[in-house]
Amino acid sequence: MKIDKMLSKLGIEKINEGASTGTKWLKAGGEIIESHSPVDGKKIASVTTVTRKTYDDVVAKSHAAFAEWRTWPAPKRGEVVRQVGEALRKNKEALGTLVSYEMGKSLQEGLGEVQEMIDICDFAVGMSRQLYGLTMHSERPRHRIYEQYHPYGVVGIISAFNFPVAVWAWNSALAWICGDTCVWKPSEKTPLTAIACQNIISEVFKENNVPEGVCSIVVGNRDCGEWMSHDTRIPLVSATGSTRMGKAVGIAVAERLGRSLLELGGNNAIIVTENADLHIAMTAAIFGAVGTAGQRCTTTRRLIIHESIYDAFKKKIVNAYKQLSIGDPLDQTNHVGPLIDQDAVTAYTNAIVEVKKAGGKEVVKGGILTGKGYESGCYVKPCVFEADNSWPIVQHETFAPILYIMKYSTLDEAIAMQNGVPQGLSSSIMTLNMREAEAFLSAAGSDCGIANVNIGTSGAEIGGAFGGEKETGGGRESGSDAWKAYMRRQTNTINYSDQLPLAQGIKFNI
Ligand code: NAD
Repeated sequence: MKIDKMLSKLGIEKINEGASTGTKWLKAGGEIIESHSPVDGKKIASVTTVTRKTYDDVVAKSHAAFAEWRTWPAPKRGEVVRQVGEALRKNKEALGTLVSYEMGKSLQEGLGEVQEMIDICDFAVGMSRQLYGLTMHSERPRHRIYEQYHPYGVVGIISAFNFPVAVWAWNSALAWICGDTCVWKPSEKTPLTAIACQNIISEVFKENNVPEGVCSIVVGNRDCGEWMSHDTRIPLVSATGSTRMGKAVGIAVAERLGRSLLELGGNNAIIVTENADLHIAMTAAIFGAVGTAGQRCTTTRRLIIHESIYDAFKKKIVNAYKQLSIGDPLDQTNHVGPLIDQDAVTAYTNAIVEVKKAGGKEVVKGGILTGKGYESGCYVKPCVFEADNSWPIVQHETFAPILYIMKYSTLDEAIAMQNGVPQGLSSSIMTLNMREAEAFLSAAGSDCGIANVNIGTSGAEIGGAFGGEKETGGGRESGSDAWKAYMRRQTNTINYSDQLPLAQGIKFNI
């Protein structure tokens, strides 16, 4: 799809307001962000960020809308989300193209991201009839105890650049069926994809007479995220991004005893055992390491390889890296697109300097690409280093296609290496040996939120709960019972007898 046609289909203007309460765009009033494509370096369009006053107005509207939205039956809210999914289906190609062009991931991955949004809408529609609580037997005669779930109120959503639209959909689709209203602060690096989402769904909200404020957006920098973290009108802040950001948000929200749902950085490893299917292992490792140019939270950053197959597997990796074509992600023959911006390129080159300083051996050489097709300055070569797991640079998540490989001799040692980093998002083992697989999945195995067998670390489905442990933040989003994070639990005891028996047999005579 041509870029101009795509922008016009999605309602992207040259200058866009960065504040909306659903169907209305407000005067945002703040400074202007220019969005440049990392694909070709060209300016795509601009967005006006929100002032504190506009932010306050948007949250006030969202807070007021909650009073009505919470009274809508959950399946009726689900019907609105079903229509949101339909609107996304109609705009999949255009939105997927914009995700690819503004963020730099491949077109296939951009379309895949929109598909994830559609999938979570479908999931949420079904879930809207399944927000179950339990019923318990009371110890008192003619009493009944049950629990039910009620919505919180306004959910603040802070999202990262690398999944610019799916993370918002994961949060909003569930929050909406639960009866919450949402205020989204997208990444300032990808504001246009957010404006496009709001344009796509505003028609649905209008047609269903959804109160203004249920689906709001505020475009802003880090300070806007900080306003959200400290805002007592926002009982739940769901934040996706770096561990640095998550620590700041977590502390600010905890200080006011609010709730936070944190989805932060990963440092994901694949263990390749001597019993692995080496073709599957190699394909998973390469896709995991270079897909999205190493800018997925679930990117494979470490390969822990059994000593008996180490040299042969290393050779396979080197050969596979030679086949990679790097270039325009909208051209489907390319495997690797650009990094998001110059800061990301600097972080990549700094990490290479650091790993070399630590004694890392270059197995596949990195570097910045220049010349025709690489004018944006954001294209880098995926590279591979032999490294030690304990080095500070290996312990750190560098958001770029740098893969560290290392050797192990016993499975216990491999698991200890896999777990021996501050992050705990995704992990995987490549083995056809049942004992090895089960040991990896056991309580003494991987300490991550995601542990896979014969599948790489990246590319999760929406049906499972997504998230990780330790410095990844502990939050869970998307499938399974992740909806519970968006609701408060209430225990109800009902006495239908003509007495007032007290619990634990306590007597109180008056
Ligand atoms: P980032 O932390 O720089 O920014 C993420 C968002 O947080 C942005 O909207 C930003 O404006 C906001 N922000 C930054 N500092 C803040 C603060 N102090 N208070 C409130 N808001 C603040 O992250 P990024 O570079 O956009 O994204 C990459 C990171 O996100 C990586 O670490 C990646 O692993 C992580 N990520 C995690 C998941 C997950 O589900 N675990 C998913 C996607 C990305």
